[in-house]
Amino acid sequence: MLIAPGVHQLSASFVNVFVVEIPAGLLLVDTGQPSDTDKLLTLMRQAGLDSSTIRLIFLTHGDTDHIGGAARFQALSGATVLAHPADVAYIEGRAQRLPAASGLGLLLRPLFMVMSRTVMRVTPVRVDRQVKEGDTVADGWQVIYLPGHTAGQVGLYHPERRVALAGDAIRNSPRLGGPPPVFTPDMPSAYASIRKLAGLDIQVLGMGHGAALTQNVGEQLLALAANLPA
Ligand SMILES: [Zn+2]
Repeated sequence: MLIAPGVHQLSASFVNVFVVEIPAGLLLVDTGQPSDTDKLLTLMRQAGLDSSTIRLIFLTHGDTDHIGGAARFQALSGATVLAHPADVAYIEGRAQRLPAASGLGLLLRPLFMVMSRTVMRVTPVRVDRQVKEGDTVADGWQVIYLPGHTAGQVGLYHPERRVALAGDAIRNSPRLGGPPPVFTPDMPSAYASIRKLAGLDIQVLGMGHGAALTQNVGEQLLALAANLPA
């Protein structure tokens, strides 16, 4: 579905992927779980989006449910893969993302290690271009650095069009809120990233999980930011 002109949100599972039309072709923002790729390709075809014209694959962070299809999408399009340096080791398969090293996260770690070798196994992909805050990716889309959920969590923001795609810096599932603490090693930074989003002029906000915000976005972000721990 279109959330803004030329900005498609595709959902093959519990995680969203965004396809942004740019003059050179398509910009893919995140790639879903490994098992999502066939369905995502079908959804793209149905939306009239030719996957062979993907020029850029922007990975918001190195979690399995966002990088799972990156290798296949890259292979079928020859696209350039972009990510923040702090998450490159996860994307290239040299490090494993684990639940936070405290509380429930610690208990979940052994299970997660088994799952990452089996059902959550991801084919690594090479990151061709490392991005940082303020970089222009294509056609006025700028990188916003939103750390906390991971150290390399980034989003995209188009100031003129007032559209932001925030990855897992914020979620709308089951309601608007911050990333889950069990998978977020640095909650103070995650809260600061939500305050940063609340300070931007945003009319449409796409997130990794849950429906995009398209109404009263600024008010909703300010209300959320006002209720976060200091
Ligand atoms: Zn996610």
